[in-house]
Amino acid sequence: MKKRRIHCPVMVEALMDWYDSHPRDLPWRKNRNPYWVWVSEIMAQQTRIQAVRPYFLRWMERFPTLEALANASEEDVLKLWQGLGYYARARHLHEAAYLVLEKHDGQIPHSYKQLQTLPGVGDYTAAAIASLAFGEREPALDGNALRVYSRLWQIEEKTESARMRANIRERALTVMPAERPGAWNEAVMDLGAEVCLPRTPHCSICPIVRHCKAFGTGNPGRLPLHRAQTEPRLAPVAVGILEQAENQYLMRRRPRQGLLGGLWEFPTVEIEPNQSLKQSLESLFAMLGFSVQIGVEEHRLVAGFSHLIWDMSVHRVYLKAGFDSAKNSLRWVSPPEWEKLAMGQPHRQIAAWLTPPPLFPDTDCSYNVNRHESRLHFS
Ligand code: SF4
Repeated sequence: MKKRRIHCPVMVEALMDWYDSHPRDLPWRKNRNPYWVWVSEIMAQQTRIQAVRPYFLRWMERFPTLEALANASEEDVLKLWQGLGYYARARHLHEAAYLVLEKHDGQIPHSYKQLQTLPGVGDYTAAAIASLAFGEREPALDGNALRVYSRLWQIEEKTESARMRANIRERALTVMPAERPGAWNEAVMDLGAEVCLPRTPHCSICPIVRHCKAFGTGNPGRLPLHRAQTEPRLAPVAVGILEQAENQYLMRRRPRQGLLGGLWEFPTVEIEPNQSLKQSLESLFAMLGFSVQIGVEEHRLVAGFSHLIWDMSVHRVYLKAGFDSAKNSLRWVSPPEWEKLAMGQPHRQIAAWLTPPPLFPDTDCSYNVNRHESRLHFS
């Protein structure tokens, strides 16, 4: 068979040498088993590597195999993911594990194309698993890789454009070594994470500086180009705290789809422009089977997501009548039990406010009892 010709072998060798001599000590790199690669790649999306490390270790202790994950309850999966954000990733991983067990005889699909049929596995994740675990030549184009490639070849197109990604994929295939495609992908990603940084690339220590077109322009930090970002929408949100005897608080499980999907919360509603806060909370509780009276605002916090900012006004609500015990998305929960439920950051913070001293010492948001106001931001 004819051997594939690799373009720019000097550049390829320089980057691979750098990668081999600067290994990142990441727990998931100790094992190239497809399940490890898959979990680590999903966890690392939109998340700092240092934040992923403890979650990955805990995950592998609790769900060491794909079977263990497939057989776990969604509640357990979300609880373990708590704090990592973007909870749809955990739900998809769980669904996909079940699918692999049922439809693929427990074997994770080997090819880039087949991998993309699994829930939550897009272009990037499929390419990463296919190249790292199965040795397929497929460029994994995450934000770091796109930045490195667009600077290396000085590509003046916005990274969000499908044409630009197709162009980069095609060019990356011309330099990707056939023997170690996974190592090449990791080398490019590592260079983006440690040297070719977004604002200030460290070109003086870059192993491929001699080949970099953007470096030649004198302003490599200008690339890559991005579409203008839209400002996150500010949404007023009301939260109702309904307490009954013996320190029991009403909690609701959010719908599986959408923001903080499947997590537990104190009943929360976004206030529609044509409604008052009181009307919104009353309607929410009526829908849950309760007739309530709304108290004054007792706490306020701001929670930021990638596309949305919640301005949250927290009120006690008082029961007038009713409880539809048939709703299995509702539960009366006492403070010690909160720790067992998977909750998003804003509601964990409200739980901490309700029960000083905080039950959640790992919560990275501070609150001030006197001001009754707190702020947190996460994506
Ligand atoms: Fe990035 Fe600079 Fe290296 Fe070019 S020379 S790839 S801009 S770090």
